[in-house]
Amino acid sequence: MDGTLLAILSGRDRPGVTAALFDALRHTRSVVLDMEQLVVRGRLILAVLLGVEESDIGSVRAVVHEVAGSVGMEVETLPGARETVAARRGRIHVTVIGRPLPPGAIADLTSELAARGWNIDRIRRIASYPVTAVVFEGSGDEDLSGLRRALSEKSRALGVDVAVQHAGLDRRGQRLVVMDVDSTVIQDEVIDLLAAAAGQGDAVAAITEKAMSGEIDFAESLRQRVAALEGLPASALDEVANAVTLTPGARTLCRTLKRLGFHVCLVSGGFEEVVVPVTAELEVDRIRANRLEVVDGRLTGRVVGPIIDRAGKRRALEEFASEFDIPLSRTVAIGDGANDLDMLEAAGLGVAFNAKPAVRAAADTSLSVPYLDSVLFLLGITREEIEEADAADPSAI
Ligand SMILES: [Mg+2]
Repeated sequence: MDGTLLAILSGRDRPGVTAALFDALRHTRSVVLDMEQLVVRGRLILAVLLGVEESDIGSVRAVVHEVAGSVGMEVETLPGARETVAARRGRIHVTVIGRPLPPGAIADLTSELAARGWNIDRIRRIASYPVTAVVFEGSGDEDLSGLRRALSEKSRALGVDVAVQHAGLDRRGQRLVVMDVDSTVIQDEVIDLLAAAAGQGDAVAAITEKAMSGEIDFAESLRQRVAALEGLPASALDEVANAVTLTPGARTLCRTLKRLGFHVCLVSGGFEEVVVPVTAELEVDRIRANRLEVVDGRLTGRVVGPIIDRAGKRRALEEFASEFDIPLSRTVAIGDGANDLDMLEAAGLGVAFNAKPAVRAAADTSLSVPYLDSVLFLLGITREEIEEADAADPSAI
């Protein structure tokens, strides 16, 4: 075969278009070199690259046009487009999530890709509700970190979320997700609720402020805040646990990850006594959090055991990964606070979830939409796949 013919059919989708085309082609001297098909909102686009002898191009072309006419499709045929196979380059997935997703954001992000020499090979829709999520599959030679930084800065200015990941086996093999709890899996900050119950809201807020401005470190701020809880009846822990609200999408995220066979773990700078009951329905594999000392039914104002701080969270991720025999490159970490940054950096994919600007700026990947299950879109799992799995197993909802 010394020639090629590229045939592109488009029109209203209906069953049998592909079958009709190839049934007609079976009687020609041609071979299939490549093909792609896509249906967008009921409109079909089918592209086929055929290997054909130069002398047969006219007759094959006539067959394609005839069959396209018979199934009511528009058709374009391009002879001689012998595909040159590009040198093997780095392949990436760039996921863009918006609510809404303005055309200008796509314009700016794809311009940046083009300016850096990245080619867009394929575009897929991942979700259209409650967010619009699209993944661009690209190839190029640039180091990923440069692109990631550039797109991350642009995304903040554009008000959309962008995640840049290597395509390939690591991305498909992600099998461990480790999540922060306060303001990530739950909407609340438990220490603030406990402080309010102890009548120490202002005092604790002042200590939190000091920690956030860097005057004292997290471990010291935790000790001081817990000290302010001295004398609080242990029953207040249950009351606070009852008052806590799961983040929208937390159930869907955990349910879907478990179906996929992922391990799901929680690591919290908060307190095990509240995290365990609040997240019981999520059926996570492991929980690591601080523990409050209780004597004679009252908090002593001290924690027992090692303090889970920024370094402790990273250590927990590494230990969970080791326990489940999963390389760090195949882990996902999700958190909102400065003390999550080390674990976000250590994970294969670190996601800052509704984080403060400083945390967002330091993290590779951010989600600013308020739905925790949007993390699934970053893993390439589509809205339809999630809904199909739920429909097949209604008892799980
Ligand atoms: Mg948090």
